[in-house]
Amino acid sequence: MALRVQKFGGTSVADIERISKVADRVQKAHENGDRMVVVLSAMAGVTNNLISLAGQASDTPDKRELDVLLATGEQTTAALMAMMLKSRGLKAKSFLGFQAGIHTDHMSGKARIREIDSHNLREALDEGHIVVVAGFQGADDHGDITTLGRGGSDTSAVAIAASLKADVCEIFTDVDGVYTTDPRICPKARKISRISYDEMLEMAILGAKVLQIRSVEFAKKYNVPVHVRSSFNEEEGTMVVNESKNMESPVVSGVTCDMNEARITFKRVPDQPGISAKVFGALAEAGISVDMIIQNSRTGGETDLTFTVTMDDFERAMEISKKVADQIHAGEIRTATEIAKISVIGLGMKSHSGVAAVMFKALAEENINIRMISTSEIRISCVILAKYAELAVRTLHAAFGLDKE
Ligand code: ASP
Ligand code: MG
Repeated sequence: MALRVQKFGGTSVADIERISKVADRVQKAHENGDRMVVVLSAMAGVTNNLISLAGQASDTPDKRELDVLLATGEQTTAALMAMMLKSRGLKAKSFLGFQAGIHTDHMSGKARIREIDSHNLREALDEGHIVVVAGFQGADDHGDITTLGRGGSDTSAVAIAASLKADVCEIFTDVDGVYTTDPRICPKARKISRISYDEMLEMAILGAKVLQIRSVEFAKKYNVPVHVRSSFNEEEGTMVVNESKNMESPVVSGVTCDMNEARITFKRVPDQPGISAKVFGALAEAGISVDMIIQNSRTGGETDLTFTVTMDDFERAMEISKKVADQIHAGEIRTATEIAKISVIGLGMKSHSGVAAVMFKALAEENINIRMISTSEIRISCVILAKYAELAVRTLHAAFGLDKE
């Protein structure tokens, strides 16, 4: 008798018919004797609609009230699901975030879970209920409703699974699992059967949308086995697990492409102590995170300083950069927004050398110029011109032996 947490995303509960398909699946597992916790997203499109309504009510919607509004999307699906299960003669009970004991900090719209007091959920499970929880929401210590950021139901599910020590947290979505790369870019992309938390984290950070980043952090911290799978079929999806359980461990597990960065270059900055501290200090103060950084070698006491930020932060980063450039007497600032960051990710890099060389050679053979390079223990990223992004992804996918037969 397993304890399973099953999370269903917006497309899986998009209308009553799909909600009833989800109920079928939950019912089946329940009748097999599994103890079931079902975490639900809002119906597809509902959260976006609510955000747009808020925008019509106010130019600057109050953050506390926005969370009250957004939380209704998940409240709706949780109630509908519990209702449906009950009308089938099953014992079921819905819980909002605060009723499920999800305590968060005060950061409206992107709250972090501090702890979960799961005794209500346990009690309901012990009484034989199917427990249905509204995802994406919690409450802070004033009892104010908070939401966990877009895609936050993943984090609700993994956190609840951690707190209940569930056997598995299944994330049901509209794709079959995690792929070696985006199948829309590379038709030879393959579904990965097992992937480590660290690899999954890199992929999520680099823009793979299948899991919210925080849910992977949680899964790693509390060692929750996560199964990403399709809600439209019975196929096995991708298991996200601890490194030691990752049997495949190929040198490279996946290739990602992030088109959401922009490059800023300070030309001719004085090559002196404290310059980088000024530039990046000012950006940090504004809450802008910088991704890649390159400083060129010095000529005549001056150097060029280049870095990337996300497109969302680009305008603000430019305002700040112009001010700082004046203060430090830099030459002009140059920018590039038509860029792509292509990355290869794999635990196997820890024990294999020459991975970077393979990557650079493959790109060179296609005449793709590399503008910036950065690495971590399990990732190598190159910035290239955006127009070569798809070619680069397909080239690297083949070069690292990921193409399906
Ligand atoms: N409904 C929320 C969103 O669209 C949370 C979620 O679906 O995970 O972001
Ligand atoms: Mg999602």
